[in-house]
Amino acid sequence: MAIDERTLLASVPTGLFIGGEWRPATGGATLSVTDPATGKELLTIADATPEDGLLALDAADAAASAWAATAPRARGELLRRAFDLLQERADEFALLMSLEMGKPLAEARGEVAYGGEFLRWFSEEAVRISGSFGSNPEGTGTIIVSQRPVGPSFLITPWNFPLAMATRKIAPALAAGCTVVVKPAELTPLTTLLFAKLLVDAGLPVGVVNVVTTSSAREVSAPIIADPRLRKLSFTGSTPVGRTLLTQAAKNVLRTSMELGGNAPFVIFDDADLDKAVDGAMLAKFRNIGQACTAANRFIVHESVADEFAARITERVSALTVGRGTDGVDIGPLIDDRAVANLTELVADAVAGGARILTGGAAIDGPGTFFAPTVITGLASDARMLREEIFGPVLGITTFATEAEGVALANATEYGLVGYVFTKDLARAHRMIDAIDTGMMGVNTGIVSNAAAPFGGVKQSGVGREGGAEGISEYLETKYTLIPAG
Ligand code: ADP
Repeated sequence: MAIDERTLLASVPTGLFIGGEWRPATGGATLSVTDPATGKELLTIADATPEDGLLALDAADAAASAWAATAPRARGELLRRAFDLLQERADEFALLMSLEMGKPLAEARGEVAYGGEFLRWFSEEAVRISGSFGSNPEGTGTIIVSQRPVGPSFLITPWNFPLAMATRKIAPALAAGCTVVVKPAELTPLTTLLFAKLLVDAGLPVGVVNVVTTSSAREVSAPIIADPRLRKLSFTGSTPVGRTLLTQAAKNVLRTSMELGGNAPFVIFDDADLDKAVDGAMLAKFRNIGQACTAANRFIVHESVADEFAARITERVSALTVGRGTDGVDIGPLIDDRAVANLTELVADAVAGGARILTGGAAIDGPGTFFAPTVITGLASDARMLREEIFGPVLGITTFATEAEGVALANATEYGLVGYVFTKDLARAHRMIDAIDTGMMGVNTGIVSNAAAPFGGVKQSGVGREGGAEGISEYLETKYTLIPAG
C-alpha cells in the first residue's frame, strides 16, 4: 500500500529518545530537517544540548548491566523482531530516506534490504559469542578465554546511508550486550528516530538504545566521549572528523571503530570484459548519487581500452535521469550546497589541468542541489579529484600502460577502503588482491557491501570492521582467566 509523505512524516517522532521516553531538548531548541530536492522543510525535531547528551549516557549506563546479563537468545530475538518489523515497514523507511537524503526510491528500498540484513545477521551472531578453554604449555593450569560486552557505546552515523549505517552499529552492539547512545547526522536524523520507534515496538528495554539529534555535533559529542562511563566509540564519516574523534578518544583510552573516507581505484585491464566493467562502473560510481565512501573515485583504465570504455560509459551516463528521488529517477540531489560547490571546484580544477568533459560537468539550477552526471577524461596526474573524495556523480578517467603502473596509481592515495579490478585473468586478479592496499576488493564487480562480510579499510580509511563475524567483536572484550591445577 502506498504511503503518502504527510502521513509518513506525521508518524516520525520528533523528540530525543532517552531512557525509553521521547522528550524535548533541554531549553526546547529545535532543528529543521529539509528535503535536498526542494530545499523545503520536512520536519522540525529536538536539537539536543550537551546536557541532553549526558542524560542519554546516564540512561545507557543505567541499563548496561541488565542488558549485558540478558540472555544472548533474548538479545538476538529482539533484533530478529526488529528485522521482521522492518520488512513490514520497508516502504515507510524507503520513502523517509528518499525524502531526507535525496536518494532514488529504488535505491532507498535497496538500503532497507541491506540495512535490515545487519539486524538478521547479528540476531544470529548473538548466540555464537564464544571463547576457548585449554591447558597452559607448562601443564600447571587451565586457560579460559571469554568474551564480555565492552559496555556503553557511542555511535555516530553519517547522512549518506541513514538506516544501514545505524543498523550496522546498533545491531552488533546490542547482540554483544552493549547499550548505546546514537547520534545521527543532523542532515538525516529522521530515519534513526523512526527506527528507534520500531525498536520500541520490537520490545526494546528502557535505556538500551538512546538517540540524540543535534545541530551541535561537536559540543554534544565531546562530553560523552570524555565521560569515564563510556567504553566505546564507533564512528562513520569523514577522515578529518575521525582524526579529531580519535584524539578525543585517546583521553580515556576508548575502544574505537572508525569507518572513514575512501578514494577507491577502479582498475580496468586490457583483458577485461568491458560490458561487465561498464555495468560495474555505473554501480560503483553512481549508486547513492556517488555519495558513498565505497564509490569508485578514480577510473584507472588500460590505455588500449580507455577510449572505448569512455565512449560506452558516456552513453550510459548521458541517459541517466535526474530529479527528486521519489520521482523514479536514477540520480537525486546532492546533500547540500557545499557538496555542489565542491564538485564544481573539482571539475574546474580538472579542466584547468587539461581534462575533457564528455558529458555533464556542471550544477543544475535549483531549487534543489543537483549536479549533472559527468564523465571527464584525460585527468592530469595532479588533478585534485585523483587525491580527494569526489562524493558525487562525477566519473574521472586516467590511463596506464603496464600492470605495475596500474598498481602504483591505484595505491597512490592515503586512503585504503576498497579497490575494484576488472580482468578475465585469474592469476592477475590474485596478484591485484595482494598488491592493492585496501581493506576490501571487488573483482569484476562494482559493489561489495554485504552484512555477512567484514566492511572496513586500512591506512586513513579507518580502523575496525563492521559486519561479518568480525563485526560483533568490535563490541566485545576478551577476558583471560588462569586457574592453576590442583
Ligand atoms: P560528512 O562529511 O559525510 O558530512 P562528517 O564526518 O562531517 O561527514 O559527519 C559524520 C557524522 O559526524 C555526523 O553525524 C556529524 O554530525 C558528526 N560530526 C561531525 N563533526 C563532529 C565532531 N567534531 N564531533 C562529533 N561528531 C561530529
